[in-house]
Amino acid sequence: MHYIIAQTEVSNEAESFFDSPWWEFTTLITKAVLVALWLALVYWTYKDAKRRISDPLMIGIAVATSFIFPYLGTLFYVILRPPEYLEDVVERELEIQARKLEVATNTPRCPSCQMPVRDDYLVCPNCRQNLKVACKSCGKPIDPAWRACPFCGVDAGAAQARGEEEEMFT
Ligand SMILES: [Zn+2]
Ligand SMILES: [Zn+2]
Repeated sequence: MHYIIAQTEVSNEAESFFDSPWWEFTTLITKAVLVALWLALVYWTYKDAKRRISDPLMIGIAVATSFIFPYLGTLFYVILRPPEYLEDVVERELEIQARKLEVATNTPRCPSCQMPVRDDYLVCPNCRQNLKVACKSCGKPIDPAWRACPFCGVDAGAAQARGEEEEMFT
């Protein structure tokens, strides 16, 4: 008999605890926090997807998944999302292009026909445009604008002049 009374007292106490305004307030706050977190995750998914995905439909699917399946949808999105930001992808592509262009501009070309030529070509093999002159002293290819041959140190003007003289005699 004592036992039964004690039990009903406990259950009454528990019931009054769950009916109390304090408990109602706590559940309300917890629910509000969970809803706020859910909506924040949906918003975060939208912001993150926009930076990683270019297709608006895929962004929509990511956001909808995050919205329809609270917390879990966002988790799935984090697992499946593209690893890179779009701006990083664009930047990398630009870098590759710039490097290609650098290589292309570093390759000497014939000023007349734009054919790639080597530094030591005297004439363009395609259009016969004069590219370099042979140093009359050492025979290495030098630019006609140079004052001295960088290979043998002879004054280039003199060397060329001497070459022209030789040509006149031949
Ligand atoms: Zn050429
Ligand atoms: Zn020389």
